[in-house]
Amino acid sequence: MPKCPNCGKGIEYLNHFQSGETKYEFSVDQGDPCYEEEEFIANNETNDYECPECHKVLFTDEEKATEFLKSYDEDKALAKEASKKVMAQVQKAYDEARTQAEKALDEATAQAEKLPE
Ligand SMILES: [Zn+2]
Repeated sequence: MPKCPNCGKGIEYLNHFQSGETKYEFSVDQGDPCYEEEEFIANNETNDYECPECHKVLFTDEEKATEFLKSYDEDKALAKEASKKVMAQVQKAYDEARTQAEKALDEATAQAEKLPE
């Protein structure tokens, strides 16, 4: 997990603050004002990526913020892959054990049938 260079805590995401204007479609519906959100228009005065732990602005552009979190994203993908492999091994071991148990049961049944009544 990436560590905040300011507070040293492990962080999984950043808080993003962006300034700008939200455009609404304003109308009046049965006497009530009505706002329908249309889009957010960034003015790029503030584009901060902050540490969620200490609230320090770590980055002001998406590229660097992405770079910072990328290794964590890759680690997550690797961990997922590793856990898939373990699950596949568990499944394989289970299948083998079941096959052996079935074989042993068949043999025991065959033996039992040979026994005099
Ligand atoms: Zn921090």
